[in-house]
Amino acid sequence: SSSSLIVSFGEMLIDFVPTVSGVSLAEAPGFLKAPGGAPANVAIAVSRIGGRAAFVGKLGDDEFGHMLAGIVKENGVNGDGIVFDKGARTALAFVTLRADGEREFMFYRNPSADMLLQPEELNLELIRSAKVFHYGSISLIVEPCRSAHLRAMEVAKEAGALLSYDPNLRLPLWPSPEEAREQILSIWEKAEVIKVSDVELEFLTGSDKIDDADALSLWHPNLKLLLVTLGEKGCRYYTKNFHGSVGAFHVQTVDTTGAGDSFVGALLCKIVDDHSILEDEARLREALTFANACGAITTTKKGAIPALPTKADALKLIKD
Ligand code: ADP
Repeated sequence: SSSSLIVSFGEMLIDFVPTVSGVSLAEAPGFLKAPGGAPANVAIAVSRIGGRAAFVGKLGDDEFGHMLAGIVKENGVNGDGIVFDKGARTALAFVTLRADGEREFMFYRNPSADMLLQPEELNLELIRSAKVFHYGSISLIVEPCRSAHLRAMEVAKEAGALLSYDPNLRLPLWPSPEEAREQILSIWEKAEVIKVSDVELEFLTGSDKIDDADALSLWHPNLKLLLVTLGEKGCRYYTKNFHGSVGAFHVQTVDTTGAGDSFVGALLCKIVDDHSILEDEARLREALTFANACGAITTTKKGAIPALPTKADALKLIKD
């Protein structure tokens, strides 16, 4: 493909999901391995719909780490930014949606390899070749990956990349909610495109019924596009000159894991070769329709990576 490169930075891990639904972790009869980690999902989402993507992050030099690096490459994503830690192991998460509707998590991160990425280990040549540089925020939680994260953003920006941010708030991973809010907002003003979920926006603004004023309270001068995803209600968009919403597609939802990453990957594919989409409301709405279709399809199958659509899948949903 001749399109420009989207580099996605952050963690990749394995989610262990119970083989049956609606049980607590302790009750699970067994687990299935589901490769994930939002930034890795975004890179694979881009590749699946025909864009060019690279993933930058650290894995353990263990069976799981090599399995994940293999998945990156099998999916046509450039893995030249992946480094392996000699000592620490690949991050693991045990995740379940219990019968009472609550999510239960248990993480292996003490520390996992992704948290040990050092600034000196960054593939700067790869990062400098990005037209869009996308990142999450788990890597902001601790050193040394926090410094690596900040350095990668700076290098990408200097080289002229558009910066795209998805806070991916996983509150249980942070030492405290206050620290999560503070750290997320500390890098807020660097990004030109930001995608948050309605739940994250509530958390960041402290408001429990989000409206346009809440979203716009987080506006900053560098920002070109703020997106708020609303699950089965689609998304809202805000730019300097216009704002509005684009409705979701109606699908048979099985598992929403990865919907937001699929949405982001699709949108970045539309933006990477043509930033003017950010200034043209009709074309932005068209791009968001495509992104909503990709997000919707991702909810129709279990897991994130196996459920990511091709461009043809998304165009078919839009046409039908
Ligand atoms: P996040 O994963 O960031 O919380 P959402 O769950 O809001 O993001 O999903 C991202 C996008 O995927 C939504 O904006 C929407 O277009 C689509 N989507 C998510 N859930 C559904 C659903 N149940 N039905 C249809 N589309 C959905």
